[in-house]
Parts: sequence; structure tokens; C-alpha cells
Amino acid sequence: MSTPLEDPVVKMDISAIVEALEEKGYADFFKEKTVLITGVAGFLGSWLADTLVALGSHIVGVDNLSTGSLNNVKHLLKTKHFRFIEADVTKLEPLEEKIDLVLHLAARPSPDDYLRHPVETLLTSSEGTLKALEVARRNDAVFLFTSTSEVYGDAEVIPTPETYWGKVNPIGPRSCYDEGKRYAEALCMAYLRQYGLDVKISRIFNTYGPRLDWKNPGYGRVVVKFIAQALKGEPITVHGDGLQTRSFCYVSDNIEAHLIFLAKKELKGEVLNIGNPEEVTILDLAKTVIELTGSKSRIVHTPPRPDDPRRRKPDITKATKLLDWKPKISLREGLAKTIEWIKPRLK
Ligand code: UDP
Repeated sequence: MSTPLEDPVVKMDISAIVEALEEKGYADFFKEKTVLITGVAGFLGSWLADTLVALGSHIVGVDNLSTGSLNNVKHLLKTKHFRFIEADVTKLEPLEEKIDLVLHLAARPSPDDYLRHPVETLLTSSEGTLKALEVARRNDAVFLFTSTSEVYGDAEVIPTPETYWGKVNPIGPRSCYDEGKRYAEALCMAYLRQYGLDVKISRIFNTYGPRLDWKNPGYGRVVVKFIAQALKGEPITVHGDGLQTRSFCYVSDNIEAHLIFLAKKELKGEVLNIGNPEEVTILDLAKTVIELTGSKSRIVHTPPRPDDPRRRKPDITKATKLLDWKPKISLREGLAKTIEWIKPRLK
């Protein structure tokens, strides 16, 4: 494995992903492939870029740096395997490279953030997905769209399988994200049906780990926000009664699943839930973070978020079967790794 990565926590995880892919026989698929990643400077985009560079791919990475950070990819700028284009995906120009795979991740997935930018959030999913699909069509590339558990809205079926159609308020405050992603899924399927494009859709459930934005309190993804609050000894802000649940997946499990999904040719047109079904209340998450950090922070209850889904837990039967994969990292292990990553950065 060759990588310019110096970050020890991320480097160790990426070695483990590469090893798992080599063992399962998927690593060679990515050698010498040219991969367009939209949202490359974001959390999952940068993890995919690092893993793919380690596997021998060439990356063309696009990001408008609205929520992503150049810090996540600046080590890759030194290699000839990575070209960065600072651009909004809705204005993506034709590329000079022949592209083999398009990974369309560009999005504003954090509720606290997208509630402040509903128009950009919708346009990224609509115009942005159209632009990314057109790159794939011109290049006859495989297209991966990273969708979301939010397409299920406030789900009535728990654990939620891919066959569930969702319960989404089309005019509610979260609709800019939920309906945008639902439209984008529909557009992907239209490209498959009308043009035969090789599209794959993953529905990502809450994922966390190093590089998720923990510094900006306005970004507000719960795991890293709680860890930062606990490490600083600040109150842990639980919205509402804290009895709402989420099921958190550690980033390396997510990345491994996505790369297997991409490498399996027979999965054209499939939609897969990717997440970890270990369900936890937000209150219990807060208590676990306090315990693992040894923090003296207290828990405070803040007003509930509008339309906050009460329960979220993926049914991953389909992904487990089709990818021959299951998440390996428990919540406590993943939290410990994330704490280890954030701690030295607080100083
Ligand atoms: N949450 C919380 N306190 C915070 C931030 C989030 O209690 O400071 C809760 C939020 O209300 C939701 C859950 O944590 O129930 C997950 O929020 P996040 O923004 O991470 O993602 P979501 O799953 O809602 O998209």
C-alpha cells in the first residue's frame, strides 16, 4: 500500500480496509482506475479518496469547500494520483480525463447546516446529480450515488429495509435534504432505465469517525459534537428528551462496504442500506461519551429539532448478503478511535 497519509488513526484504518479488500479479492478492481469523487474534501469523500489512492486509483476530486475542508485532502495534493478541482458540482465543467467510476457524494448532510441553506441543499441534489450523471453517461462509467436514510423520513418500519417507501414531509424543514435525495435517486433510476447507465445507490445511515467536522459547533453532527463538548468539559446538549435513537456506523465499515459494492459488477441498479444496526438513544450516547472521555461534563436538555426522526435503524440484510460484509467496529470501539483522533487536535 502506498499512501502519503501521516495521520496515524486514519492510516491504520485505511490499511485495514485495504487488507480486507485484498483478502476478499476486490483490490485489483481499483488499480489504475480513474475515479471522479464529488464532495472529495468532505468526511466520506476524503476517506474514499485516501483508500482508492492506496489501492492504485487516480482521483479527480471536486469540492466547493462549503462544508468540506482542504485539510482532509491536502496530503493527497502532493501525489500525482490526485487532481483537485475547486468547483460547485452544479457547475461542473467537462473533464479532460477518461473517467471509469463516478462517486457522487457532494451534499450538505448535516441538519443544522442544511436547515440554514435549504436552496443550495436542494440544488446540489438536483442540478449537481444531473451534472455528475452526465459525466458518467459521457464516459460510460459506473455511477455511485450516496443517498441517505433520510429518504425514509420518520420511518414507521424499524429496522428499515430498502423496500420501505418512506414517510417524508414534502414541505417540512428537512425536505430540502430528504426530497432532494429522493429526487436524485429517481434521476439515477431514470438514467438506468433510459440510457442503461450502471448506477448504484447506497442509503447511508449515521456514520462517524475522524474528519467529521467537530470544530464548527454550527455543523452539529451529534457524535463528534458530543465528543468535543465532553473533551472541553462543556455541557452536552441533548435535544429534546434524548430518547430518539440513531444507529451509528464507524467510517471504515462504511468505506469497505462501498468499495465492495462498486467492485461487484452484478450489482448494477441495486439500492443498499449501509450502516450499523446497533441502535442507541441519544441520551445513552451522551452518557457513553462522558464515560469514555472521563469527562466531568453534565448533560443539558435543549429544545428538540423540528421533525427529528424518533428512531433510525437500518435493516442491512440485503447488504450483508449481496456484499458478504457486515460492520466490524462496535460503537464503543469507534467512539474510542474518534476520541483518540479529536483529542490531540483540541490543543
Ligand atoms: N442531537 C442532539 N444534540 C446535538 C446535536 C444533535 O441531541 O447537539 C441529536 C439530534 O436531535 C438527532 C441526533 O442527535 O436526534 C442525530 O443528529 P445529527 O445531526 O447527527 O444527524 P441526523 O441523524 O439527525 O441527521
